[in-house]
Formats: sequence, structure tokens, C-alpha cells
Amino acid sequence: MADFDVDLFVIGGGSGGVRAARIAAGYGARVMIAEEYRMGGTCVIRGCVPKKLFVIGSHVRQEIEDAAGFGWRIPEATFDWPTLIANKDKEIARLEAAYTANVEKAGVRVVKTRAVLEDAQTVRLMTGEAVRARYILIATGGAPNHGREIPGIEHVISSNEAFHLKELPRRIVIQGGGYIALEFACIFANFGSDVTVIYRGDNILRGFDEDVRTHVRAEMEKEGITILTGCTVTKVDKHGKDYTTHLSNGSSIASDQVMFAIGRHPNVANLGLDKAGVAINPENGGIAVDHFSKTSVPSIYAIGDVTHRHNLTPVAIREGHAFADSVFGKRPVQVDHINIPTAVFCQPEVGTVGMTETQARELFDRVDIYKTSFRPIKATMSGRDTRVLMKLVVDGSTDRVLGCHIVGDTAAEIIQAVAIAIKMKATKADFDTTIALHPTAAEELVTMRTVTERHVRQAAE
Ligand code: FAD
Ligand code: NDP
Repeated sequence: MADFDVDLFVIGGGSGGVRAARIAAGYGARVMIAEEYRMGGTCVIRGCVPKKLFVIGSHVRQEIEDAAGFGWRIPEATFDWPTLIANKDKEIARLEAAYTANVEKAGVRVVKTRAVLEDAQTVRLMTGEAVRARYILIATGGAPNHGREIPGIEHVISSNEAFHLKELPRRIVIQGGGYIALEFACIFANFGSDVTVIYRGDNILRGFDEDVRTHVRAEMEKEGITILTGCTVTKVDKHGKDYTTHLSNGSSIASDQVMFAIGRHPNVANLGLDKAGVAINPENGGIAVDHFSKTSVPSIYAIGDVTHRHNLTPVAIREGHAFADSVFGKRPVQVDHINIPTAVFCQPEVGTVGMTETQARELFDRVDIYKTSFRPIKATMSGRDTRVLMKLVVDGSTDRVLGCHIVGDTAAEIIQAVAIAIKMKATKADFDTTIALHPTAAEELVTMRTVTERHVRQAAE
């Protein structure tokens, strides 16, 4: 349409925005994308990718320790944090360039600037330029919460800064009991830091299966991480290079860094949403959207973390792709948000898909639990004090597997494959007829024959 400069203007060059821009351009749309920081967004620049590189690097310590039982004599290993940071930065810069090149190759025009809404079909760039767009996609992601203002909050880092520390902290205090807090607690602990986790509730990983929560906590504590529950950080004092973290229970902890990982908020501030008439979802503070990611304004869509639905990279990518298919590919696609697999890359890692036992027991009359905890084969020779947890949650009436929860090495890799079976509505009998692959940990998933617990809901009087 001659009236418009572009068919699609994407605000935000992260996982979801880049996918949407590329697919829409492939359908012949004239597309522009604005990124105010670095192309690739949270996942590539300061999320999943650098985090996983840290996880892999930190795991080497356990590999070295475990090697002795297998006959290896390794002279005392040393670790150099600046080398890790420099190599990680190099890889992230390579990925950033690849993201830009791929989206440009698809015919998308990239502008490296902040963009905000002026009205329902106009975007204003910080350069002063106004761009008229037939459709606008908001894919601005999210940012770390810092919680309520406590004295000394300016001394507290988030995951953003944790990726760029000049030196490895000897001691670190981390507040939070979710994904980021636990992943970084294990990363720092494996690199050799003394780690204390502060969590406000009674146990970490709220929302995960109760057995997973108990198991992960025990494993982390066995590895020397201190987990203090039922308290919060009330104040942080700085003395030279040291910090004192004061807790609501009256105690205090000395450290070299203090980090908060207490959730993230959608990037909706100062975006011009009110000027364009875009509504916020009052329940979660994200942009309100329908099943096609359409906002309250018909020409404006929103995807990924800014909608605060399921804040995971593959979800943002799927939503961006579905948006482009629906609006430019004339193929309406709704994203199915049921049974999304997820992993926490703590050590040992958590892989989970589907319902927890608690959720299943709320919804189903009969729930069968198949559960096992065992010593992995590697530990028999390494001597490491660690156990694997595997759990299946089954609808006792239909035999359908409702959920699978694993804590152990490679849990994330295993759960990706299990997620296919669960998505296909596999029954426990389907698991049972599948022949085991030996010797693996995953074979337990098809060899657990005896119900560990059976929960039958009593009919209401
Ligand atoms: P983002 O990737 O956040 O991209 C939004 C982009 O918009 C950013 O680049 C931002 O700079 C830009 N922007 C914002 N406002 C404007 C504006 N006004 N103008 C121009 N540009 C703007 N998920 C997983 O699935 N697996 C993991 O292992 C995992 N690990 C994580 C680890 C950490 C430490 C963090 C913080 C997150 C992790 N996540 C993980 C979550 C994942 O990173 C996000 O779900 C994903 O990046 C969301 O993609 P998005 O496209 O919605 O937003
Ligand atoms: P999470 O929501 O996972 O965890 C936040 C934690 O902080 C919870 O333990 C929460 O407690 C606690 N908390 C919240 N508010 C406060 C407060 N005011 N004071 C003290 N504690 C508080 O958020 P993260 O920051 O860890 O990660 C953000 C999101 O990023 C994740 O939810 C996930 O979607 C994504 N992510 C995914 C990863 C992956 O896929 N592996 C890795 C990293 C991030 P409570 O439980 O009591 O509410």
C-alpha cells in the first residue's frame, strides 16, 4: 500500500522479533526491524547462550574430580575467569553478526536504534524518523526486576552484569529461588565460589513438582551451596570491595558480590502504548493479546516476553513465526502453549514437561505416580554423592502420561524427546512397550512397572 513505508515494523531484534521479520519478508512483505542494544536479544546476548556456555565451562570441575575414580591422574587444574569471559564475548559477537546478516539476507532493513509507537500505524525512531507501517510487531522482551527499593540496592547486580564480571567472586549471595538464581548458583559454585542462596518461601523452584524441588535442593546442598529459606534481603552495605547482606531473619552474610534473580518484567515502559491505545494485561503486566498475538489495536501485535506468557526462547520464536504465517502467509496459526518442555540448567539439571503431581491430582480422579531415585552409573566409580530422580505422572483412568520430571545429568536432552511422546498423548502402556536402551539413565522411563503411589479422589458427599 503506497500509504505505508513498510508492511511490517518490528520493535526488538530478539528471538521472537527476528524470526517474525525473516518469515514475513519471506512472504514478500517489506520489513524493518529496530534494535536498541544488540541484535539477538536476551537469549543470545545475555541469556540462554552465554548462560549455557558458563554451565558447560563450570561443569568441567566435576569432570576433573570424577576422573580420578576412572584412573586419571590430573595435576591440579587452574581456572582463568578472564579467559572464559573473553571467549564467551567472542562467540556472542559472532552470533550477533550472524543474526544481523541472516535477517538482512532475508531482505529485512535493520535499524540500530530505539523505536516507540506514535500511533496505531506509526513508529518513531530515536533518530527522529517516523515510519508508517501497515502492521507493527512489539517484541521488546523483558528485563530483570530489582524488587522494592532497599538500602544499598545500587550494589546489587542482576544476570546482565553477571556475564561481565571482571573477576570470579570468591563469595556471592544470590537472592531468588527460580531459574536464574539456581543456574547461577551452580555456575559460580562449580567455578569455585562460595555461594549462598536466599529464598523467601519454604523451598526453591515454586511451581515445579514437589519431588523435583526437594531433590534439587538436596543435590545443591550436597555440592556445598548454602540455601537459606524463609527470608529476604533487607539491606546491602559496601565496605571497600566487600559487601554485607542483611537478611529479614536478623542475620548477615559477607561476600564479594550480591546478585538478585527475582523475576523479570515485560519491557512496556515508555513505548508509547497509550498513544497507540495498546492495552496491558492487568493480570501479568504484559501486553494483552489474543490467541493470534493480536493486541487491542488491530494493526499491532505483540509476541514473546513482552506478553509475559511463557518466557522461553522457543516460545517467543514460535509466536513470531505464527504471527508472520497468520498475517503475511494467509495461514492462520495459533501457538499451542500446552505441554511446553522446560529445563533448569542447575547441576544436576532439571527437565520437565506436562503436569506436576499436584496439578494432576487437582484435575483427575485417579492419578498414578511412577517414581525412582537411583545412583547414576558414573557415580559408582567417581564416588560422587549424587542421585537421579525420574517421575511419571499418569492419569489412572485413561493410562495417559500427564507429566514427566527428571533431575540428573542430561535431563534437558532427555525431556525434549519425552515431550514428543507426551504431546502425542502417549499412555503408560506405550512407554512400557518401548524397549529400553541400556545402559542409560533414561531407560528407567520405560522400565518403571510398579505404581509408587496411587491417588484416588473420594467422591464428594
Ligand atoms: P528478547 O530476546 O528479550 O528481545 C527483545 C529485544 O528488544 C532486546 O534485544 C531489546 O534490546 C530490544 N528492545 C527493547 N525495547 C526496544 C525498543 N523500544 N526499541 C528497539 N529495541 C528494543 N529461555 C530458554 O528458553 N532457555 C534458557 O536456557 C534461557 N536462559 C535464560 C537465561 C537468562 C539469564 C535470561 C535472562 C533469560 C533466559 N531465557 C531462557 C529466557 C529467554 O532469553 C527469553 O524468553 C527470550 O529471549 C525472549 O525473546 P523475545 O524475543 O521475547 O525478547
Ligand atoms: P523466576 O520467576 O524463575 O524466579 C523468580 C524467583 O524470585 C522466585 O523464586 C520468586 O519467589 C523470587 N522472587 C520474586 N519476587 C521477589 C521479591 N520481591 N523478593 C524476593 N524474592 C522474589 O525468575 P528468574 O528471574 O529466575 O527468571 C526469569 C524468567 O526467565 C524465568 O521465569 C524463565 O521464564 C526465564 N528463564 C528461563 C531459563 C531456562 O529456560 N532455563 C533460564 C533463565 C530464565 P516465589 O517463587 O516465591 O515467587
